[in-house]
Amino acid sequence: MQQLQDSFGRKFPYIRMSITDVCNFKCGYCLPNGYQVDKSDNRKFLHLDEIKRLAKCFSELGVLKIRITGGEPTVRKDFFEIIKVLKFDAGINKVVITTNGYHLDKKAKLLVDSGLSGINISIDSLDREIFKNITGHDRLPEILQGIKNLQDLSFNNIKINAVLLNGINASEKDFDNWSKFIQNNEVDFRYIELMQTGDNLDYFKKYHISSNFFKSYLNKNKWIYQTMGKDAGPALNYINPEYKGKFGIIAPYSKDFCKSCNRLRITSRGDLRLCLFGNTGISVRHLLQKDDQLSELKDLILKQMQFKKESHYLELGETGSTKNLSKTGG
Ligand code: SAM
Ligand code: SF4
Repeated sequence: MQQLQDSFGRKFPYIRMSITDVCNFKCGYCLPNGYQVDKSDNRKFLHLDEIKRLAKCFSELGVLKIRITGGEPTVRKDFFEIIKVLKFDAGINKVVITTNGYHLDKKAKLLVDSGLSGINISIDSLDREIFKNITGHDRLPEILQGIKNLQDLSFNNIKINAVLLNGINASEKDFDNWSKFIQNNEVDFRYIELMQTGDNLDYFKKYHISSNFFKSYLNKNKWIYQTMGKDAGPALNYINPEYKGKFGIIAPYSKDFCKSCNRLRITSRGDLRLCLFGNTGISVRHLLQKDDQLSELKDLILKQMQFKKESHYLELGETGSTKNLSKTGG
């Protein structure tokens, strides 16, 4: 089988696919004023048929896992259908999503029934007031209830992500709160270090803090670093035998972050992006219009692999065309 591999020997069994730029939250680091319709842009988000063809192509290129993201993917009316199409028509083994957890309490059963393999939920704080201030929505209780509902349905591949924000959610007290949460709760909680994007420079300067601060907390509290498997992604994972859940760190500014890169991205308008940052990528949408374009599509994607760079060069402040992560699918 043909496989996606770049000139640095990295393989790509994993795709992040954005299905919409629209979001109903207003996270300070991403869309502080909420989603704004760009009237000059009349390109529509990928249709279900286009998504199916693309996923089939990736499946034939050895892709085993697709993460659906956005924007907020669950705002799409055909969201559950998309999961089913990827899983059952395109033959992708693992279909997972990243969501802000909006209405998760009500959606839990539908998610489980759709064949979903895993869910990443963004929760920046366990403090209701802080959560509301960051996201612009007082929805923490419904999200926590949603997690419980998923677990009651025996769905256990649950990860929670929080963006680490200096002076907001990065104190020892915050870390202790998460520690209590995962003690008897089988979820992986990871802090993501805040990334600079084209839109958020002031916010970044004000709130960025190195994830080493959380790392010191983990070391001090006897969390054990779990060495990475060969095909593991860039998260650093920590375990503690007294806890049901795990801790993790996603540190995009760390030295070797890009070495373990195992993913490519598709934007909601059908651009293949070789990295979350930088300007490398092209539109593949013209090859998603008919079933008989499959081999041409495969060739184009395979050829693009030679352009994937070794690193995102984010530490040099190079955010490329990424204005905010709702556009590229974080
Ligand atoms: N709306 C969904 C959500 O929030 O989970 C999916 C899309 S969102 C862009 C994906 C992830 O990117 C979220 O966990 C979010 O916290 C994270 N994110 C967004 N902007 C970020 C930034 N500037 N730095 C680090 N993480 C960011
Ligand atoms: Fe929306 Fe996710 Fe961006 Fe928050 S991080 S504004 S939930 S896309």
